[in-house]
Amino acid sequence: MTQQVWFITGSQGLYGPEVVEQVAENSKQIVALLQGSGFIADVVWKPTLTSKDSILRTMLDANSDPECIGVIAWMHTFSPAKMWIAGLDALRKPLCHLHTQANAELPWATIDMDFMNLNQAAHGDREFGYIESRLVIARTTVVGHASNPAVAKRLDDWIRAAAGAAATRSMKLVRFGDNMRDVAVTEGDKVEAEHVFGVSVNTHGVNDLADAVAQVSDSAAESLCAEYADRYEVVPELRSTGERHDSLRYSAKLEIALRSFLEAHGATAFTTNFEDLGALAQLPGMSVQRLMADGYGFGAEGDWKTAVLVRAAKVMGQGLPGGASLMEDYTYNLVPGQERILGAHMLEVCPSLTTAKPRCEIHPLGIGNRADPVRLVFDADPGPAIVVALSDMRDRFRLTANTVQIVGPDQPLPNLPVARAVWIPDPDFYTSAECWLMAGAAHHTCMSSALNPNIWTDFAEITGTELALITKSTTTSTFKKELRWTQAYHRLARGL
Ligand code: MN
Repeated sequence: MTQQVWFITGSQGLYGPEVVEQVAENSKQIVALLQGSGFIADVVWKPTLTSKDSILRTMLDANSDPECIGVIAWMHTFSPAKMWIAGLDALRKPLCHLHTQANAELPWATIDMDFMNLNQAAHGDREFGYIESRLVIARTTVVGHASNPAVAKRLDDWIRAAAGAAATRSMKLVRFGDNMRDVAVTEGDKVEAEHVFGVSVNTHGVNDLADAVAQVSDSAAESLCAEYADRYEVVPELRSTGERHDSLRYSAKLEIALRSFLEAHGATAFTTNFEDLGALAQLPGMSVQRLMADGYGFGAEGDWKTAVLVRAAKVMGQGLPGGASLMEDYTYNLVPGQERILGAHMLEVCPSLTTAKPRCEIHPLGIGNRADPVRLVFDADPGPAIVVALSDMRDRFRLTANTVQIVGPDQPLPNLPVARAVWIPDPDFYTSAECWLMAGAAHHTCMSSALNPNIWTDFAEITGTELALITKSTTTSTFKKELRWTQAYHRLARGL
């Protein structure tokens, strides 16, 4: 299904039909400019809105059109905003208020009152902004001429966030088993998650997956092993001639069974739990890594909240360089001046974080009480990234995000047989860790090297979720105050 963003233009009948026709022509030109911006959704022009009834009708159509993931609104002329109350109140799709105008340059020598009547977004959009704020309408506001690359970039961010929200709205998430016993932060309110994000989170017996693995033929598994041999540096013992090839074949069966299980359930995200592996012979490692690389969301130890974030990040980052993965803050280098976070997991880090050829290896794993699991081993590419965690704060969800710089390990890690990333968080290790702990943010995150903070900010706005953002300009004292303000705001905004 193609995805659309509707472009709606506000005006009024006061100026006569010629002006309204010119408004339509101008807004079509702006849409044409935006259509050339390479967005992941088509920008679709809609007829100029000049009445309460047509505004309401358009918003209701946007709500019910499955292809429409959001609405961009612009007031070319003054458009008395009481006509917008019913429509804005009814709108359930993400809203972006584009504050622009047809002309970039003011025609100083020729400007007259006809021009002034036609080009009055400067006050038309202020009238619109008032009614949006008065009605407490969640939205992103973007300012500037449509030919300005910064405007197209900001719209691209918002469209990506709208696509992410559309993906969670229809998301089905399969949990194999429950959460890891006694862990607090991976728990959460699944009813609230379905209300806030739309995601449907349900548990399946892990032995249903184990049965499916047993049904996979050796020949299907062998052809997947041949693909592994092409794409990865497979260690000799796992190759078709190696003494542990059976383990690779089992991992391939696990991947085939997992993929078809998820497809059969229409699911785009899943979790596993090493404490509940049933009849599975290995903890899913490489199979999980490869499914993540194909766009599935994943969380380990039953962490469905992080799986939701990873799936959203996959959708929001489509077509961008970089990737997204489950990540876990594991251990530190605390040498003063060289502070680093080493992130990894038992096995399950997505190879979309590297452009190098991963190694396919097999090693013992102390937990899970199963056969040695096969995994892909690599270092995440250096570059900017963002880590995001989702915590259930009892009465609401809180997203915490931190911009980071992936730097790679200072030295080779020959004895660490898992995929990993080494990074320096903004604004510095000490401020970052103090703020992260103050926010009660999780040790599991979605790490993305494709997304920027604006995209997650828009995603939070669209889903009405609290966002605590740690960036280069964060200080612990202002962050602490922001947390208290946003906590109070989100409690008040829910009503009694
Ligand atoms: Mn973990």
